[in-house]
Amino acid sequence: MFIPITEVIKQMRRRNLLKGIGVTVLQFVFRPALALPFGLKRSVIHRVRPSDPLWPSAASWAKLKAQVGGNLIQPRALFADCQTDANGEACAEVRKSIRNPFYIGDQPAGTEVSGWLDAWTPAPSAYAVRARNAADVAAAVNFARENNLRLVVKGGGHSYLGTSNAPDSLLVWTRAMNKVTVHDAFVGQGCKARTSAVPAVTVEAGAMWIDVYHAVTTEAGRYVQGGGCTTVGVAGLIQSGGFGSFSKGFGTAASGLLEAEVVTADGRVRIANACTNPDLFWALKGGGGGSFGVVTKVTLLTHELPEYFGYAGGRIKAQSDAAFQQLIARFISFYRESLFNSHWGESVSIGPDNTLRLNMVCQGLDNQQVANVWKPFFDSVKNSKDLTAADLEAGAGRARHWWDIADRKRRGNDSMISDSRPGAPATHAYWSGDQGQVGAFLHGYDSLWLPASLLENSQQSRLADALFAASRQKKVELHFNKGIAGAPPAAAAATRDTATNPAVVDAFVLVIIADGGLPAYPGLARPSTSPAPNPAASSGVNSAANSVVNPPMNLDFARGNAHKIDLAAAELRKIAPNAGSYVSESNYFNASWQKEYWGTNYPKLRAIKKKYDPEGLFFVHHGVGSEDWTADGFTRVAKGS
Ligand SMILES: Cc1cc2nc3c(=O)[nH]c(=O)nc-3n(C[C@H](O)[C@H](O)[C@H](O)COP(=O)(O)OP(=O)(O)OC[C@H]3O[C@@H](n4cnc5c(N)ncnc54)[C@H](O)[C@@H]3O)c2cc1C
Repeated sequence: MFIPITEVIKQMRRRNLLKGIGVTVLQFVFRPALALPFGLKRSVIHRVRPSDPLWPSAASWAKLKAQVGGNLIQPRALFADCQTDANGEACAEVRKSIRNPFYIGDQPAGTEVSGWLDAWTPAPSAYAVRARNAADVAAAVNFARENNLRLVVKGGGHSYLGTSNAPDSLLVWTRAMNKVTVHDAFVGQGCKARTSAVPAVTVEAGAMWIDVYHAVTTEAGRYVQGGGCTTVGVAGLIQSGGFGSFSKGFGTAASGLLEAEVVTADGRVRIANACTNPDLFWALKGGGGGSFGVVTKVTLLTHELPEYFGYAGGRIKAQSDAAFQQLIARFISFYRESLFNSHWGESVSIGPDNTLRLNMVCQGLDNQQVANVWKPFFDSVKNSKDLTAADLEAGAGRARHWWDIADRKRRGNDSMISDSRPGAPATHAYWSGDQGQVGAFLHGYDSLWLPASLLENSQQSRLADALFAASRQKKVELHFNKGIAGAPPAAAAATRDTATNPAVVDAFVLVIIADGGLPAYPGLARPSTSPAPNPAASSGVNSAANSVVNPPMNLDFARGNAHKIDLAAAELRKIAPNAGSYVSESNYFNASWQKEYWGTNYPKLRAIKKKYDPEGLFFVHHGVGSEDWTADGFTRVAKGS
């Protein structure tokens, strides 16, 4: 709800503040917006900040606090204690824990990455409601709307684009809502006459995927499609579309959504499923987090668990550029013949150092089948005098133990790292491959979907050449599980029935090109310039060292990195000009975000946004409807005369 000027004046009178500051009030409400596109007529409305006279009084905040059972807090920046007492215990604690994603997620001001060069810097909200249930969320939403506040929603805090934090805002923080309930037979509310019961799992919005996998797979012996990174928040990933290692077999995470409970901008707690509010239901399936309401719980379809999950890995280095080009071409041909199916996902990377790194996983193949699939390719590599291979391996194990931390420990498998804090649940662990991203400071990031037509025989050399050209600039990662071409028809159809750009269904891969450096949270200060490049930063987002004693950041070097990412992505856009990009793993500066994230679905999403959030209470950077606002989400810019 935006406050018209007459109402502003009335409110000011009520607060006895108008006397003597009337002019200030008018200036505040109609402060001119900066840097508007040429030709726009201005109708500007501002949300209030703590420094504004209309910021809620202490008594109002106290009332909200009582309403939410005392769970209203004033978050502090992660390293605030280090600024006041660099040698104190509190500072030592944050320094010790800052590479632990569970610790970061437990902090109201925690963000999994520590910002993005020239894009965003982590900033705590003025207040946060640590919500316990939908009623707490509704109280926060109503308070934000009635007081014209900037509202932010945070679950797992893994937004690369920084959309779950904003200064001067009220945060709805769902971390404490993390219950997981497995059902043998679930029917959505209002769906009894239309659909039959299916096995499912209901998850509160703030849970992490590891909590879901533990309950569904390790304990109940079933499969649910979620995300790859175990510490990502459930509601954030579903609204992203969301991919896990085995999405090639089961579709996007959003495609498995059966029902959501969501608090909309009017403060109502609504059910969204195929029978009740189906338009909102569709928008929540990939329409982007933080744009349509606050999701308080989701119910997801569960599947029969495949007997085996498997893995293939290793590094192959070519002795020359020519040999590397041949290797890329050979791998594409092998992928097309043997891996382009519902079994195989995850990634390979193609590096400027002429190295192909394999990090593939599969579902539904036993140990021997996996070995058979890879033998011809591994043999050809081993027999080549132009290639050197290391750690080539492929195999499979019982799927039920994939996320079973205790079993991995028993087997001496170190691919998952446990939350090391005293009292942490023994089931909480994350993939060691994700360590480099914890706290990382992003220099640049981009992604694009490549259509499966590029795998046709006549197109493979174009694809190989473009990948080689891109890899001259930056390491290029091919995430096969994030393109749905090759999936079973039912998984493809379910994914098509989501808000994600339909290009995902025709794509065999999502290419990700990214780089960054060591943590750079505010307060973990380092000089902003230095003549010496930071060697750790150049090693990539996925390999930042496990240290917080950071060398100075070299801004020229970081900007150079960002530029190389742009150049690499441009090479690939030449062969896929209408590629599309994954909203949650994308370029902060993408100017065509509506088209790239949602393609032909965007107008429908825009209409649904207008219906459920006509005043734009929910704003995130490059979210549906965000074009109506200035970049900080504080000033509305309405087109028209
Ligand atoms: C290390 C890392 C690994 C990742 N791995 C994967 C992966 O394997 N697969 C994949 O698909 N993506 C992956 N991502 C991207 C990730 O899925 C998205 O960023 C996702 O949106 C994060 O959700 P979150 O709750 O953790 O993050 P948050 O930052 O808390 O939220 C992300 C967005 O969703 C909104 N949101 C969160 N909760 C709610 C809610 N309850 N209601 C409404 N809006 C909400 C927030 O406002 C924000 O805009 C990864 C990201 C990181 C940093």
